[in-house]
Amino acid sequence: MNRVQNQSTNYLPLPSEEKREQIYARIIEHIHAANMNPDTGERFLGGFWIEAVHTPDGWANILDHLDIQINALCPDYHVHQAKEKFGGLRYYIGNVPENKRDEVDKLIRKAETISYKTCQDCGQPGRGGESGGWLATLCDKHGAQTKGWQPHKSHNKN
Ligand SMILES: [Zn+2]
Repeated sequence: MNRVQNQSTNYLPLPSEEKREQIYARIIEHIHAANMNPDTGERFLGGFWIEAVHTPDGWANILDHLDIQINALCPDYHVHQAKEKFGGLRYYIGNVPENKRDEVDKLIRKAETISYKTCQDCGQPGRGGESGGWLATLCDKHGAQTKGWQPHKSHNKN
């Protein structure tokens, strides 16, 4: 647990809006789906146009680091979708060479684990909680600002 939290990539200050847009644009460049609109960064999926890269700003550093790491292993990887689900990051990719898959899967799982401890609003230490069935990972400050949000009971409080 602590090893994950102490990752040097974690809990950096939130990048500026301009820097975040650069990070997202870099990841959008990895989208090669045939049903992609390159002007909007949207993908036609399940009958809807959706933003292929749609993650909370608080996770911009996680996304940044993950993309750099995967890119170093397989620069031609494809992003199918990057999003938040149940309070955690999801990063669905393809076009990864067979001999790199285990390593890449490990990187993605590590990033997902870190996302569950990182406030999705500000990128500082957060924890999982819930507001009327909606799950979100938030710091104390943003949890207090989010109507009805209650942290999950933790079994190993630090
Ligand atoms: Zn926060």
